[in-house]
Amino acid sequence: MLINEISKILKYIFPKLMWKNNKLEIEKTIYLTFDDGPTPEITNYVLDLLTKYNAKATFFCIGNNIKSNRELAQQILKNGHKIGNHTMNHVNCWHVNANEFFNEYQLCENEINSLGTNSVGFRPPYGRINRFVYRKLIHYTPIYMWSFISGDYNRKNNPNTILKSAKKNIRHGSILIFHDSKKAFPILSIILEPILEYCSQNNFQFKTL
Ligand SMILES: [Zn+2]
Repeated sequence: MLINEISKILKYIFPKLMWKNNKLEIEKTIYLTFDDGPTPEITNYVLDLLTKYNAKATFFCIGNNIKSNRELAQQILKNGHKIGNHTMNHVNCWHVNANEFFNEYQLCENEINSLGTNSVGFRPPYGRINRFVYRKLIHYTPIYMWSFISGDYNRKNNPNTILKSAKKNIRHGSILIFHDSKKAFPILSIILEPILEYCSQNNFQFKTL
């Protein structure tokens, strides 16, 4: 599904999850986020495009990918972007208990701290959360969901449909989610630049969370 149908029930059960950014920005601002990296070549591709459009973004990194690609993770920071926590091993919180999940969060946090920076927040892998994890994590970190999911991870999605949906749904304060992963690259490489172009032409600023 391309248009993110955000469940009102989820918002009711987990009131502090952030589906858009509540910072009061005066200018039209959107928040690009890239999950699952850093991935050699693909993250570099994203970084180059972001530089071209003078865009800042937030990368929700997998701890183990930081560990394997430390220079690339440092490059993200050097380019003025921010890093967020996406667990050490991309764990599905429905498949482990709250303590195991928290450990995954903490291990990723340690990797981020070892780069000399702090995580800007947490994004749950697969967008999945439960009451136990929520209650524990919300004391430690903002939890960022999204307002527009690109669907780049599913090769069956039609890039033209994604672009149409993006133009229809992106607005001030939107958090957009993409993936700097091998799986997403065939679609990401088609949609990312046109979305950056569209947002630039419509005077959106791209900022970090
Ligand atoms: Zn993910």
